[in-house]
Amino acid sequence: MGIKVAKFGGTSLADAEQFRKVRAIVAADPARRYIVPSAPGKRHPRDQKITDLLYLCHAHVQQEVPFDDVFSIVAERFLGIVHDLGLALDLRPYLDEIKERIARGASADYTASRGEYLNALILAELLGYEFVDAAEVIFFRPDGTLDRERTWRALAERLAAVPRAVIPGFYGALPGGAIKTFPRGGSDISGAIVARGIGAELYENWTDVSGFLMADPRIVPNPKPIELITYRELRELAYMGASVLHEEAIFPVREAGIPIRIKNTNAPEDPGTLIVRDAPPVTPNGTITGIAGRKDFTVIALEKALMNAEIGFGRKLLSVLEANGISFEHMPSGIDTISLVIADAQLNHKLDKVLEEIRQQCRPDSLEVHPNMALIATVGRGMAYTPGIAGKLFGALGREGINVRMIDQGSSEINIIVGVDSQDFERAVRAIYHAFVG
Ligand code: ASP
Repeated sequence: MGIKVAKFGGTSLADAEQFRKVRAIVAADPARRYIVPSAPGKRHPRDQKITDLLYLCHAHVQQEVPFDDVFSIVAERFLGIVHDLGLALDLRPYLDEIKERIARGASADYTASRGEYLNALILAELLGYEFVDAAEVIFFRPDGTLDRERTWRALAERLAAVPRAVIPGFYGALPGGAIKTFPRGGSDISGAIVARGIGAELYENWTDVSGFLMADPRIVPNPKPIELITYRELRELAYMGASVLHEEAIFPVREAGIPIRIKNTNAPEDPGTLIVRDAPPVTPNGTITGIAGRKDFTVIALEKALMNAEIGFGRKLLSVLEANGISFEHMPSGIDTISLVIADAQLNHKLDKVLEEIRQQCRPDSLEVHPNMALIATVGRGMAYTPGIAGKLFGALGREGINVRMIDQGSSEINIIVGVDSQDFERAVRAIYHAFVG
């Protein structure tokens, strides 16, 4: 039987009741042999995440302010979970040691990682699984990047002898043993690394939603769930702002062709979303898989007679961006026109300087700036095989009276991107959704 690695997020382990749901989920499938927990998250909107409180402890020590009160909230939270679950585990010695090390000036990474460490100890006890410290199996190089070879080897060797284990998420060890964390939300990455290291058949990511939706529910009421999506489609949607898994979490499993299933701890019977390498072009919801978009782009539009014949024109234009450390999203061009679509965050007060340098380098006949553009990506692996997709999309926008200011279809043909005025953004997303999904 194949192995499943199951990662449980912070809300899935926020209190004893959530821990019991996790126990039932793990017990329901014997293939769930390696479990990767986050630290306890929020129990209600105004609650505190354990990781945030631990960072706060560290900040107090740095400012030489007593941190006992904050640490007590952390300790009580963990002791409460152990108590409510009726476990025999005595966490006090662990808490005492951690508190002492924080008081002595332990690093922010060590301090923050203790949320996952303690949660994994509790979950291992509850499940009757072995606790395997992430510092023994996930390794970083001195420059802070993941030491992949060492990590794959350590995971394979260590877990070969351990049929069922809980491995804390969010951190690993630097050479020499110091703890280093991944970016915030990084337990997703740990789970993917464990899945890759032991060659799992499936990486399950348990959270508090039943997978991804075809559009942002704040824009489209009750959008349909996405049951099946390829890694490539997911990347396109995530890049355009759909909030999904931690991006770095995709790569270890994607390389190895291990599928990811997003599941809801609070509704385990929901199918969730399955992310795979290859999938048939026709999706359960028709030709498109999802719609995502972002606001806050600026277009710089140049016009110059005979631009098409001027060798090196594009290079001169792009060298201005490069010299200013700016990346661009799209560069639609006509015969004598070319535009650059740039995220406002990239331009970052450099617009006047960039325009001046473009004038000097490229000598355009006209140079215009159009702010407030939004980009919308309509993504679907079925789009490449289906005639009439573009017609349907632009027809829907036309009927809504929305002016399309830019069009870009990547050569992969799984994505059509349109640029519209920011104030038309929500209306445009709804029009596209209803045209394709109903
Ligand atoms: N607990 C960490 C955080 O809050 C990591 C995670 O939950 O994935 O960022």
